Amino acid sequence: MSRALPPPEPRPLSALVLRLRPVGESDIMVDLFSRELGRVTGLAKGGKRSQKRFFGLLLAGHHLEVGLLPGRRDDLWLLQGARLLASHLGLRQDYRRLLHAGPVLELLLRAAAPHDPHPGALDLALMTLARLERAENVHEMASALVIFLARLLGEMGYGLALGSCLHCGRPLEQVAQPRLSLAGGLACQECPPQAQDRQVPPGLVKSLGSALSLGPPALGRLSLSPALLRPGLGYLGDFWRHVSGHDLPSLGLALDLLPPFPSRRKSL
Ligand SMILES: [Zn+2]
Repeated sequence: MSRALPPPEPRPLSALVLRLRPVGESDIMVDLFSRELGRVTGLAKGGKRSQKRFFGLLLAGHHLEVGLLPGRRDDLWLLQGARLLASHLGLRQDYRRLLHAGPVLELLLRAAAPHDPHPGALDLALMTLARLERAENVHEMASALVIFLARLLGEMGYGLALGSCLHCGRPLEQVAQPRLSLAGGLACQECPPQAQDRQVPPGLVKSLGSALSLGPPALGRLSLSPALLRPGLGYLGDFWRHVSGHDLPSLGLALDLLPPFPSRRKSL
């Protein structure tokens, strides 16, 4: 009598496609960020040719339900099949939206360890992509990205302390010339500056505070004042480069889309 085990059932995951890499003639390595397992890598055998199993499904930014089987290596799964949950098609209809979605995918790829689930980070990414695919102007796109970068810090276990000075505890209301520090939050004008502190407009600290505290419906409508977008993306980009240890080039591309002097028309 055969003692062969029945073939294993693929494990279903809800996952965002982060990156695709061709392997050899016909296979594709797919980096995913899943609700159940966090970041995982799956090999789509015949992914380049298979019309039936993967046709049109393996694209960065797609939200899929995938079926995974354990591979020969612990850190590599075999992608058995996929079903589209959300295409985020609007991202591909405007290159500016796509450039703002780039850092969402790159951050999950670079800042999340494999097999370390952060379901809140997946929800945040999906909410951000849904907003980006409808956004009509760079101002709203950059706002959505600033909110994502700020809230992802909390989701991944890095706090951003904005209520008072990190060094002396002086409350934000008494900080006229705030700096934001790579140590993780606000520094006041009285405390000695540290390397890579950034002087920022006071409004940025308040806006980041709102980005961290608002619940989903209000958060989806939050837009930063145009003058705060460049310093906001600049600081949060530096902070993420610092904590992830990666260059994150996609952040520079998104920053390049912002007008250089958004506050030029404002009288001082
Ligand atoms: Zn201080």
